[in-house]
Amino acid sequence: MKISHLGIATKGIDEALKFWQDALGLENVHAEEVAEQKVRVAMLPIGETRIELLEATSEDSPIAKFVEKRGGGIHHIAVEVENIEESLAKLKANGARLIDEQPRIGAEGCLVAFVHPSSAGGVLLELIQENK
Ligand code: ZN
Repeated sequence: MKISHLGIATKGIDEALKFWQDALGLENVHAEEVAEQKVRVAMLPIGETRIELLEATSEDSPIAKFVEKRGGGIHHIAVEVENIEESLAKLKANGARLIDEQPRIGAEGCLVAFVHPSSAGGVLLELIQENK
């Protein structure tokens, strides 16, 4: 396993890029709207992982709620797994609370599923299986 990316909730990606891209020097290599999750994302590689900037596309987006409460910040950590269905089954067997019992389609056509922060010490965990 490895850290696929760190998800950072923003009020707006364009504004956030002024820091992450222009000031810090990371490169925005991929931008996409993920309709199912009501977000726009921008991916900025950093070493073997990436920063994922997230912007809500709707008022009922989970990112809109997060930004409203906390004004942005680290939203989730995404761990890349070989077989997402197996990982979900193992988590469930070990009593973890799953937000997604079944994988969904995420950015770049990957399969993703979220694990509730109450099972991960307050961290929202995203499992991701690369689209290969
Ligand atoms: Zn993510």
